[in-house]
Amino acid sequence: MTWPEPVACHTACARLGVLRKIIKVTISSFAELGISEPLLRALEDADYKTPTPIQTRAIPLLLDGLDLLGIAQTGTGKTAAFTLPLLHNLEEDNERAGQRCARALILAPTRELVIQIADSIKTYGRHMRIRSAVVMGGVGQRPQVDALRRGVDILVATPGRLLDLIQQGHVDLGQTEYLILDEADRMLDMGFIRDVRRIIEKLPDERQTLLFSATMPSEVAKLSRDILYQPERVEIAAKSVAVESIDQRVHHLDAKAKRAALAELLAEPDFDRVMVFTRTKHGANKVVKHLERDGVSAEAIHSNKSQGARQRALDNFREGRTRVLVATDIASRGIDIDDVTHVINYELPNVPESYVHRIGRTARAGAAGIAISFCDASERSHLRSIERLIKRSLIVIGEGPSGPDQSSAETRNGAGRRSGAGRRRRRRSQRRAA
Ligand code: AMP
Repeated sequence: MTWPEPVACHTACARLGVLRKIIKVTISSFAELGISEPLLRALEDADYKTPTPIQTRAIPLLLDGLDLLGIAQTGTGKTAAFTLPLLHNLEEDNERAGQRCARALILAPTRELVIQIADSIKTYGRHMRIRSAVVMGGVGQRPQVDALRRGVDILVATPGRLLDLIQQGHVDLGQTEYLILDEADRMLDMGFIRDVRRIIEKLPDERQTLLFSATMPSEVAKLSRDILYQPERVEIAAKSVAVESIDQRVHHLDAKAKRAALAELLAEPDFDRVMVFTRTKHGANKVVKHLERDGVSAEAIHSNKSQGARQRALDNFREGRTRVLVATDIASRGIDIDDVTHVINYELPNVPESYVHRIGRTARAGAAGIAISFCDASERSHLRSIERLIKRSLIVIGEGPSGPDQSSAETRNGAGRRSGAGRRRRRRSQRRAA
């Protein structure tokens, strides 16, 4: 299996990269990352031979006690990237092991993800004495409360049920030293961000915080600024298909002209199975309404639709009963439909990685694919970010003036690598005090 390479990584991580180039060393084993022997044994049991790119980048930073912003989706090995250093750090610093107050909290948006993470903790921690428990809705709370009473090191939870148990006095996060937020953009989409913020208020400021998200909508970016302290950023490219194999075009036009331009494209019989992307749910509904008025069969999928309605729309599209599927970014995640002939970005995403996710819906399984993006004046900066990310210019198929390029260089502070729980804690205090 080939793992996607990081597309950006700053400060200490970048310095490590430079260092590696100079001394021509590549990290090819987990042992080189500095994780403890019981974890190495567990990885051998699981037949993991080499760390994935996100693991290579993130594990040294996390062993060092730094906060991390991870832009990565499922499938990159991100669960092990945060679980391995967490287990290492907890085992190394085990004075408070198994107490009633969880030492680490992992928040995830869905029950499925909570169970998956808890399984990973069991797999990687099998030669350690770390206690973990899950807290999630949809099942009785009694066994969860009993587990908490017995004492846990790591609590893996969905936000809603956790907040319930906090309010009932069953959970104390007053001494929790590690916080990991997984799939933050899905939390946002599912309406959990307020609950997440309320939970985080219960944690001490002095902690290590990690936030993982596949995309960076502005609210998630704001949350990350609020809860992370001088984070390192590790970004892994979304690479479900070779972007190079997709014919990518852009049509510069007025926002008001988009409806007619879409109708014109869909008048072509080649546009057989088409996915249209909008930025908002409202936008998706509007496009469907217009298409239906123009006699084109279309359905929308977004998070305001019930699971059943989304599934029906997907089935209709897959079976060819609907010609056009209109989707928002998060709702389209993981959709695996062959033979999508065209992807049309009715609105460009403000998160460039979403563009790659979107166009990946076409050209699956080696088929040729075409992606056409509509770009109005307000979207030119999004286009520039996309072209920077994919390192190529889209072919212009419609006229329009283009503005100057604005690059968004980020500068960050970093620090050299140290190890040991005491030093980690001291480092965090110093950074916070600074
Ligand atoms: P994740 O992105 O965390 O959902 O992981 C995706 C899949 O990759 C999971 O099934 C993991 O068990 C597996 N995995 C993670 N890291 C490695 C690795 N270094 N070597 C082999 N498989 C891995």
